[in-house]
Amino acid sequence: MHWPHSRARRVRLLALLAVGAAASVLMTPRPAHAYVLWNVYWQNNGNIQYCESSMTGNDTTAFNNALGNWNGQGLPIHFSGGSCGVHIFDENDGANGYTGYTSYSYGSTGCNGWGRLSSVSSKLNPYYTNNEGVQEVQSTAAHELGHALGLGHTSDQGTLMYPNEYRYINRGVYTPQADDRSGISYIYNSCGGK
Ligand SMILES: [Zn+2]
Repeated sequence: MHWPHSRARRVRLLALLAVGAAASVLMTPRPAHAYVLWNVYWQNNGNIQYCESSMTGNDTTAFNNALGNWNGQGLPIHFSGGSCGVHIFDENDGANGYTGYTSYSYGSTGCNGWGRLSSVSSKLNPYYTNNEGVQEVQSTAAHELGHALGLGHTSDQGTLMYPNEYRYINRGVYTPQADDRSGISYIYNSCGGK
């Protein structure tokens, strides 16, 4: 009478070991994301103020679409018009190779030792943008806003934070993608208000 019982227990144990082995394969460290952090963030519960000036051509529409794209993702951040935390503007820099450019400054460090953003400038270069369609400019504007939130460049063409036009030429990326959302969730779920 003990044999079948003990065999059954042994089979169950082997089954548990097999499950354990499968779980450890799934948990093997591997790059789970493409996003890159600038190690800076906005410390105000994800409420990010922006202002716009000197916009030309399609750039106002493109930037407003891009702001709406980010606000519509269900992320713990929200852009709202007000003070110039993020200053959005056009500046004709000629044929310098940059359709958009974002720079930032921060004061003290906070959560995770990251810099607390104090101001960001996100500009478009109408030398290029005035010859592009709204959708192309929107991809650049949304990309610059990704920087304004604290994301760096990826090496994945299927993400918004890929640094050149091949993200939309090859992959049709005009708005934040899953990996971009993951990066922002990571920053602001842990550090939004701290
Ligand atoms: Zn960039």
